[in-house]
Amino acid sequence: MSEVFNFCAGPAMLPTAVMTKAQNEFINWNNTGSSVMELSHRSNIYMKMAFQAEADLRELMAIPDNYKVLFCHGGGRGQFSAVPLNLLPQGKSADYIVNGSWSKAAALEAENFGSINVINVREEHNDGEISIIPNAKWPLNNDAAYVHYCPNETVDGIEINEIPETNGVPLVADMSSTILSHEIDVTKFGLIYAGAQKNIGPSGLTIVIVREDLLGNAQLATPCIMNYQTSADNDSMYNTPPTYAWYLASLVFQWLKELGGVKAIAKVNQEKAELLYQVIDSSDFYNNPIDKQYRSKMNIPFWLNDESLNEKFILQAEQHGLMALKGHRIVGGMRASIYNAMPIEGVQALVDFMQQFEKRMR
Ligand SMILES: *Cc1c(COP(=O)(O)O)cnc(C)c1O
Repeated sequence: MSEVFNFCAGPAMLPTAVMTKAQNEFINWNNTGSSVMELSHRSNIYMKMAFQAEADLRELMAIPDNYKVLFCHGGGRGQFSAVPLNLLPQGKSADYIVNGSWSKAAALEAENFGSINVINVREEHNDGEISIIPNAKWPLNNDAAYVHYCPNETVDGIEINEIPETNGVPLVADMSSTILSHEIDVTKFGLIYAGAQKNIGPSGLTIVIVREDLLGNAQLATPCIMNYQTSADNDSMYNTPPTYAWYLASLVFQWLKELGGVKAIAKVNQEKAELLYQVIDSSDFYNNPIDKQYRSKMNIPFWLNDESLNEKFILQAEQHGLMALKGHRIVGGMRASIYNAMPIEGVQALVDFMQQFEKRMR
């Protein structure tokens, strides 16, 4: 088998350059004679790396000084609980925009901690097309503690690419599968969170970017390791952080900076997505029913019009080194996740295979 391209939705592939660097310093990091994962998170050398990672992320995303950047445990789902615990005081409610499976799961979890107003914005039309109700028509509640949404629905392949207007209510975004993939204006958000295993590093690390004025109102029952204020006061080291994942994230941030930052990678991401959608749309062999305006650039689901060929497609794709293309079990079909680390050569190899497969099966 020649080169392998891994289209897994998460944990996802990491840049080869990052993996090679990590391999080279695996058992002897910075001449310590130890692996980075064997060192105290409070040692000077570790803290230096950790703070540099935060500084690099701040630079990459242009995060203003009045935001804290927290390196947390617990993944995206951990934040489904942490967000209401920290931001939803007794007597208030929060709006949850639902446009796919992750935003729905976030709303369900939040209901354990307070009053949640679920706003479904997903529309399925008679011809099968899936779209999103425009932001201006969302029935938002002006007294909500916050509005939660998921700009990129990883399973459904649906993206809300314009930042919603919430009329001063803090906006909370689950960016697990879209963080660092294109430029965003952080000042438009009260809080951004992302599990690392899609576009940042390995699983086990979760990034939270939170505006300082939202801290300090956590519910009494908030576990200390989920309390943003506690994390912020202790430089994300109240308890032992996921040290190796933090280190790998630091290497990914450096890699991204060397490539020219988020603006540069966004251009490549756009080209990759266009290449794949173009092949899906130009044939009646494949389809993707999502309104073009709301299509994800990171997670691209597609279906074979003849679903009886699914297994053959997956098997032959694997023989061509194209891995993990099977769609999520709840939507079926195929899904190509093409995060920052996926080179355009990988997408080119996929579309070449798709066109050959179509020819062979006709
Ligand atoms: C993967 C994902 C999650 C869940 O992440 P875990 O780290 O497994 O808890 C949540 N939200 C979105 C948008 C995701 O893509």
